[in-house]
Amino acid sequence: MAKKVLIIGAVALGPKAAARCRRLDSNIEILMIDQGNFISYGGCGMPFYLSGEVDNVHALRQTSAHVNRDPDFFNDVKNVEVRIHTKALSIQKEDKTVSVENLDTGEKYDIAYDELVLGTGSSPIIPQIPGINLQNVCAISCLEEAMSIRENCAKSKLENVVIIGGGFTGMEVAVALADMWSLKCTLIKRSPRLLPSLISETISEMVRHDLGSLGIDVISEEEVLELRGENGEVKEVITSKRTLKAEQVIFAMGVKPNSEIAQKAGLDCNPRGGIRVNEYLQSSHPHIYAGGDCVVMKNIISGKEQHLPMGSLANRHGRIIGTNVAGGNPVCGMETFNGVVGSWCMKLAKGSASGTGLTVDEAKKAGFDAMSVNVEQLDRAHFYPEKDMMTLEVTVDKKTRRVLGMQGYCANGDALKARIDTVAAMLQFSKPTLNDLSNVEVAYSPPLASAMDVINTAANVADNVLSGVHNAISPAQFVELWEQRENNNYIFVDSRPAKASQILAEKYPDYWYSMPLEGFDKVISKLPQGKNIAFICNSGTRAYECQRKLKRTGRDSVNSAGGMQAMKKRGQEF
Ligand SMILES: Cc1cc2nc3c(=O)[nH]c(=O)nc-3n(C[C@H](O)[C@H](O)[C@H](O)COP(=O)(O)OP(=O)(O)OC[C@H]3O[C@@H](n4cnc5c(N)ncnc54)[C@H](O)[C@@H]3O)c2cc1C
Repeated sequence: MAKKVLIIGAVALGPKAAARCRRLDSNIEILMIDQGNFISYGGCGMPFYLSGEVDNVHALRQTSAHVNRDPDFFNDVKNVEVRIHTKALSIQKEDKTVSVENLDTGEKYDIAYDELVLGTGSSPIIPQIPGINLQNVCAISCLEEAMSIRENCAKSKLENVVIIGGGFTGMEVAVALADMWSLKCTLIKRSPRLLPSLISETISEMVRHDLGSLGIDVISEEEVLELRGENGEVKEVITSKRTLKAEQVIFAMGVKPNSEIAQKAGLDCNPRGGIRVNEYLQSSHPHIYAGGDCVVMKNIISGKEQHLPMGSLANRHGRIIGTNVAGGNPVCGMETFNGVVGSWCMKLAKGSASGTGLTVDEAKKAGFDAMSVNVEQLDRAHFYPEKDMMTLEVTVDKKTRRVLGMQGYCANGDALKARIDTVAAMLQFSKPTLNDLSNVEVAYSPPLASAMDVINTAANVADNVLSGVHNAISPAQFVELWEQRENNNYIFVDSRPAKASQILAEKYPDYWYSMPLEGFDKVISKLPQGKNIAFICNSGTRAYECQRKLKRTGRDSVNSAGGMQAMKKRGQEF
């Protein structure tokens, strides 16, 4: 008898597992079920459908040859049977059956399997506050919701949109609606900063400023208490501090794993419902595999469990599960997955943000004695006409100099992603040190990179800081010193060329000193004694050289890492 593989969930993980399994074995009976209407679609593309960059929603569910990935396609092309509107109700793991319900007819029946795959994904977190059932209140978790939001936009019914939650999808949706439909978008979140577990304060402020360029307001540390409407349609959002107009409310507060049937079947799950799997992506029962948004994985760096609801992960998991349910790789046997490092990227309004590994705060929580430093450097050769300043922030364990993570922001998202991906690969397969990152061999050509690549520079700056050669402070720390200048006895020494540095020196003669690097040796003795010194320049490099020169005279100072470029990106004006 042919082996039977049953797959529950048919969006990202399920179809990938089915296709891989079929390519390895033409005899296995593969049945994929999903409670929804649409299968095998690019949910990650929904914000770009809202923005109009993807003009037809069906493009998200088509192959590159414009063929719809529907049940007929899977049946005819992949020899995989698909049943939509079919909900799995329970798993009888000892009998190897799953009870399901046909949602159209109400019919309930059992399906037998030899290997079961759970690709049940995740669901949006939606608080049960008053007004939650008003019209035009939704998440953006499926094509139907994306279609309804876009329809509302197209009918010109909307002026104000409130997005609740400060994660990726909330920001992507805000950018899409503010840019394409010129809507007033407000993003409300509980945490003090955007993506708190994924980006540092420095990059978070850059992201906030980027969103602000489209008029998107970010309201932090506020709780949404109630939605109010008229004639059944939402009109207002009431928070702990204010009332906002809103004809559309979108929940983007994160997701929780869909694991009810796994939990009911007694599979090992973590307290937040993530299904625990081993390196073969088997659950606590060897004939039940799980992957994608419904599982928790080990974070390779922190060693802790992490729920990483990412389409990229679901696809990689799907391939491994497809191989393993087919009996393994024909040569190497069962395939393994060694954990996640948490890589992500996101296009914003003027730039993109990306990261991998741990932020400094997350690293500290994980028990590392961590520090981070940010750098600004051109993403291509300085003499090449098209270029942009890239921000990178590297997280390092102080004692071992192990690199723990990197995040960044840059107008050129591809260039940024190339750097983050390099670090991601290093983090996933080794325990890289600053020396490794300083010497990692990346490709160079002037239109694409600079000879000393920005990731090598980030390592060198961190190394200088740890070696006590460079006393760098973050942009936020510099701003704090500036704001407290009447009390803290600091003067601010600007090492940029005179043309740039004199403007602020004339504006703030008591505090801001124009002392360009060229000629700094000659004026160094004019720096008033008894004052604390904070250096700044365009990117941090010239000021670092001045700091070294000053140190040779016996005086300590601090230098603003990333300089004026970092200040500009966070919207800081002097
Ligand atoms: C707006 C948006 C933007 C995103 N952007 C990105 C991005 O840029 N990059 C990125 O990496 N990720 C992104 N993601 C995340 C990505 O879409 C998910 O990680 C991915 O879809 C997870 O795939 P999955 O197959 O594990 O689960 P899902 O896509 O959640 O699919 C699970 C399916 O299983 C079905 N199901 C659940 N329980 C049952 C049951 N009992 N019976 C039958 N069917 C069931 C569900 O209805 C669903 O159809 C984005 C997500 C959204 C919503």
